[in-house]
Amino acid sequence: MSTNITSMTTPPPSETRSKGRTLAYLAGIPADKVKGIGAVSMKKLSAQGVSSVADLLLTVPRRYLDRSQLFDLQAAPLGKDVTVGGVVTSFSKRRISRGRTMVEARVSDGTSSVRCVWFNPYMKLVEGEEVALSGSIETFKGSLQMKSPDVDRLDRERLAVTGRVLPVYPGLGGLGPFKVREAVDNAVGRSIPIEDIVPTAVLDRFALVDRTTSISRIHLPDSLEDVEPARRRLIFDEFLRIQMALKVRAHDEFESQIGVQNSVKGELFQRFMDSLSHRLTGAQLRVLEEILQDMEAQTPMHRLLQGEVGSGKTVVVVLALLTSVESGHQGAFMAPTEVLAFQHYLGTELALVDAGMAPTIEDVGAGGTTSLFAEEPLSTRPVRIGLFTGSRVTTNFVSGDVSRTQGLVWLADGTIDIAFGTQALIQEDVDFHSLGIAVVDEQHRFGVEQRVVMRDKNQGEGVPDLLLMTATPIPRTLAMTLYGDLKMSVIDEMPPGRSPTTTLAISETADDEIDASIQEVVAEGRQVFVVCPLVEDSEKIDARSAVTEFARITSSLRGVRCELLHGQMHSDEKSDVMSRFRAGDIDLLVCTTVIEVGIDVPNATLMVIRTADRFGLSQLHQLRGRVGRGEFGGVCLLSSDPTTPDGERRIEAMVRSTDGFELSEIDLEIRGQGTVFGGSQSGAADLRLGDILRDRDLLDVAHTVAVAAVQDDPHGPFVTEVMHEVSALLGESAQWLTRS
Ligand code: ADP
Ligand code: MG
Repeated sequence: MSTNITSMTTPPPSETRSKGRTLAYLAGIPADKVKGIGAVSMKKLSAQGVSSVADLLLTVPRRYLDRSQLFDLQAAPLGKDVTVGGVVTSFSKRRISRGRTMVEARVSDGTSSVRCVWFNPYMKLVEGEEVALSGSIETFKGSLQMKSPDVDRLDRERLAVTGRVLPVYPGLGGLGPFKVREAVDNAVGRSIPIEDIVPTAVLDRFALVDRTTSISRIHLPDSLEDVEPARRRLIFDEFLRIQMALKVRAHDEFESQIGVQNSVKGELFQRFMDSLSHRLTGAQLRVLEEILQDMEAQTPMHRLLQGEVGSGKTVVVVLALLTSVESGHQGAFMAPTEVLAFQHYLGTELALVDAGMAPTIEDVGAGGTTSLFAEEPLSTRPVRIGLFTGSRVTTNFVSGDVSRTQGLVWLADGTIDIAFGTQALIQEDVDFHSLGIAVVDEQHRFGVEQRVVMRDKNQGEGVPDLLLMTATPIPRTLAMTLYGDLKMSVIDEMPPGRSPTTTLAISETADDEIDASIQEVVAEGRQVFVVCPLVEDSEKIDARSAVTEFARITSSLRGVRCELLHGQMHSDEKSDVMSRFRAGDIDLLVCTTVIEVGIDVPNATLMVIRTADRFGLSQLHQLRGRVGRGEFGGVCLLSSDPTTPDGERRIEAMVRSTDGFELSEIDLEIRGQGTVFGGSQSGAADLRLGDILRDRDLLDVAHTVAVAAVQDDPHGPFVTEVMHEVSALLGESAQWLTRS
């Protein structure tokens, strides 16, 4: 960021700006103040979330008709997407076979006429009304026909007065497109000029048009070329509101706070480093540096660590936890499930043993007899860890489990250096002697609130560092929108010596090929997963079920020790099957997605996924991650005959790429951002026009601008005005963004 950003928040001379009312102000004026909107229309509009003048201004045309591009029927090319205009001369509806309704209309433009058919019972046109039809024209029995064309109703009055480009509005909650257009027109007329809250220097630098221009041209473009710059500005504004809110929150909650003091790369850290049997990868080292820099800084860390399963996040995190311990603080590591919490605990316990840093069991004794506050030289100091879940509390310095009460005492008096656990770690009765760092695994399953609770668990001085981690790759632009208040670290490199899994697509009918692969792998003493989308056959869904596949495999592959595993089984049964599989007493598991997370069997080298096009892309990637975890490499067979283009794309992407980030972007592209945000806790509320993938350049610009503005002056006029706009336009749905 260069110096001219510093001047951004100084209001520019008034003559360079279009003075007028701000959007935030217009958001406070009810829509029924606009001519043409009475109580009834107002009710319909509010039901659609359009209740203020600002909402009307931001109700943009769903498309534009360029009248110079309108074809005469007689001259329109056949078989191409075209738009024609005309008058409805006849309209009828009739029932056809299987309860379907066919709607038929004839539209004439003076040069010729076209017969239109739709199979949509709600389609309705009125004789004499003027319409534009978009679609492909063909000939049928010697005359022109269009099948299910898009229809835009036009009105003559409007046709007569407007220029070459006609905006076409959506209908809104029972208000027709004309009525919406009229309301928007009146709103624009009353509101312009609109004061621009974004400094001119920023607009100039990023080639953005001003607000008055964008609002007037999106609604009344002189030509189609006017539309794009207007849209870009509106999209930038959407992204800016979200980014600014996230940056302001980050500033209030973290960057303006005093963190706990840490000294990095001390003796404990070094002892653990030296004990590692492998060298850290370049990515691990880079991310470790980023984390240590945060820990050393005066402000508390607030960082998201991303890296796929097996990329080596745990080592990095343990080094961060040890840094906190040797600075005289404690660490907390919270996982979403008991199983995962236990895995992290166990992994760390073993690593400490390997490093010669584990306490002896006599160290403290069940009653805590050793003086805890005796100075322990770092060169010999052991590291005491504990596990806290709903069902048990255990430590690495007392044999067996202890009571929760005892565990809590040891947390509060500082006996336990690092606590692992589930949500049980953020219950009200939990206090730390001096919590220096909180690590939260799979953070997308925790809400903002839990993050804050975790942060507030400290009796000592300062706000603890917060490190969130996730093994689910999140596309960069999505992460920026959902977690834009966090700094990002990505481990984008796998430790050496792992051969990547080979993925092949085969037909759903290739049972013989699948069986041959299974036999080959089992003969080598390796194990197999066969994953199915369903537990049992279903009449509605055409997909291979686990029960059917299990029956098939047990009869065709008699020598293979095969078991069934799915979510409907009793949990004792499930864990029994799993532990036998882990022990190598079972060759093949036919299962559902129950194996998606946390199952680590390095001897499993083949994964077969049946009816694979039924699974989402990130799910397929997670599933595939279950094989190829050892030294033997892995093979993934995707059996399917995709019935949709999206299904085909998913399979094709899986075969081509093993890069989780690339796959997550393709997944986002296929599914669209709406489904990804989900829930109310999301920025989607303000993304009407913006698309985080398509408009990623504008998202980057908005991010840059917001960062610079908050850094420059978090309470300056620019930041303040954008934040006004956030609460005025987003209201309730902005709470997740603005809560501090
Ligand atoms: P993650 O937590 O990201 O899933 P882990 O930290 O559990 O990954 O690492 C997975 C495996 O790779 C572990 O067995 C770990 O010991 C090993 N490992 C981690 N870093 C390296 C490295 N730099 N070189 C070799 N092996 C590594
Ligand atoms: Mg710090």
